[in-house]
Amino acid sequence: MADDKKKLTTNFGKPVEDDQNTVTAGSTGPALIQDIHLLEKLAHFDRERIPERVVHAKGAGAHGYFEVTEDVTKYTKAKFLSKVGKRTDLFIRFSTVGGEKGSADAERDPRGFAIKFYTEDGNYDLVGNNTPVFFIRDPLKFPDFIHTQKRNPGTNLKDADMFWDFLSLTPESIHQVTVLFSDRGTPKTFRHMNGYSSHTFKWYNNKGKYFWVQYHFKTEQGIQNLTRDEATRLKGEDPDHATRDLYDAIERGEFPSWKLEMQIMTPEQAAKYRFDPFDITKVWFHGDVAPITIGRMVLNRNSANYFAEVEQAAFSPANFVPGIAASPDKLLQGRLFSYHDTHRHRLGPNYHLIPVNRPKAATVDNYQRDGSMQVDGNFGGSPNYYPNSFGGPQPNPDASDPAFGVSGEVARQPYAHPNDDFFQAGELYRRVMTDSDRDHLIGNITTHLCNAQKRIQLRQAAIFYKADAEYGHRIAEGLRLDIKEVERLAAMSQEERTKATAQ
Ligand code: NDP
Repeated sequence: MADDKKKLTTNFGKPVEDDQNTVTAGSTGPALIQDIHLLEKLAHFDRERIPERVVHAKGAGAHGYFEVTEDVTKYTKAKFLSKVGKRTDLFIRFSTVGGEKGSADAERDPRGFAIKFYTEDGNYDLVGNNTPVFFIRDPLKFPDFIHTQKRNPGTNLKDADMFWDFLSLTPESIHQVTVLFSDRGTPKTFRHMNGYSSHTFKWYNNKGKYFWVQYHFKTEQGIQNLTRDEATRLKGEDPDHATRDLYDAIERGEFPSWKLEMQIMTPEQAAKYRFDPFDITKVWFHGDVAPITIGRMVLNRNSANYFAEVEQAAFSPANFVPGIAASPDKLLQGRLFSYHDTHRHRLGPNYHLIPVNRPKAATVDNYQRDGSMQVDGNFGGSPNYYPNSFGGPQPNPDASDPAFGVSGEVARQPYAHPNDDFFQAGELYRRVMTDSDRDHLIGNITTHLCNAQKRIQLRQAAIFYKADAEYGHRIAEGLRLDIKEVERLAAMSQEERTKATAQ
């Protein structure tokens, strides 16, 4: 019966009488501007796309929860971590980094691993990757780095020269390059990979004592990766394979899970650590700082609408809760600005009002008002200035994180600790990888690096050689480079090497 059917309306609720025939002057005549339903429908369609994320454009998301399994109250007063057995709702978004929104899930790329915990003290976002390190450690380099991973400005093509030119001129990237070109650079699905904070963060307890921490979400599905050939095939056969896999697994009731391991250092340990513990190009060796398991994350619900929840989800490493704060990691400091900024551009200044981004277990109360797309009550008639004597919200000194001392000169300066950019990449190659991992790594690199100019190949081969002599030899062999030349370049300073391999 007609009355039981859902009624089609305009965006303002007026019933629509016909959704198949445009209003025209005569049956063959021109369309009329009075067809407001047509105008609204076309105008809205014209505006369906919002700016694509400049990085992490292609992604998939799901809802779930985090459960505490170990008492960590001596390290942090974060309420969502305050009791064994406590569960907190969360939303996660996995992604590739460099590709566009329609790119293939099987691309060689780090995978984003961004979690929004809806805690009673506000939303806490942990915006990490499936790799424990990163290519660069200073935010000034970030836009340049990302340009090299995307398209050549002239040809609009991916460009091996840009890609390897930058990396070979930025030797701090070697650790992450080694992870990326291992088969971990093409995880089988989002379910079969780990997630890392990569950055160091600060945890502090009720007594104001603080600790430096790193997060490792370890997949309970087991690590599984694609080989280069499998990834190439999947890119053609099912470019959305990881998105599909996550969705289907959750629909089947096969809920993916990760256990959360933490590495925790006291400030005293950090001050004496063998390298800068805030340097994101390095891991804290497990032998130095043993990880402890503190919780478990389970994903158990798909989003009902991709655009509303996954596309509009906006994460920021600056979203902390009492008990957790930033570290001096310089790359993190840059990200504290950049994420909110990009969301304001992509979604508007009131993007925190979008349901997936709104705190669900905490109340928001402050003096920020208005702006485009202000879609809640805008705090009605309550005071919009502070201080006020009309009962407006008050700051809570308990929410401050403990101070820590800094000294030195205001200047542009590199990381202060003596750095060895090559040792950990070498350790990964020598000590962690199996023979077959190493074979795949060499094949994955040489089939990509062979597309760059010879001088760039030589410069990059020297970087691999500095990580491990055998690693460098095998790359040189695979690219048919003169190994003596690679060794000569490896013995030079970075400045000399740059000069020796200039155009
Ligand atoms: P361990 O020797 O105790 O453990 C090796 C780690 O390497 C494991 O966590 C393993 O992860 C991970 N791993 C294995 N294959 C790869 C790969 N292809 N890419 C990235 N990680 C991989 O670690 P150490 O602390 O002694 O460090 C040795 C080297 O291990 C480091 O130089 C670093 O490259 C790598 N590593 C260290 C991590 C850390 O936080 N200390 C984290 C990840 C890597 P899993 O157990 O999940 O298989």
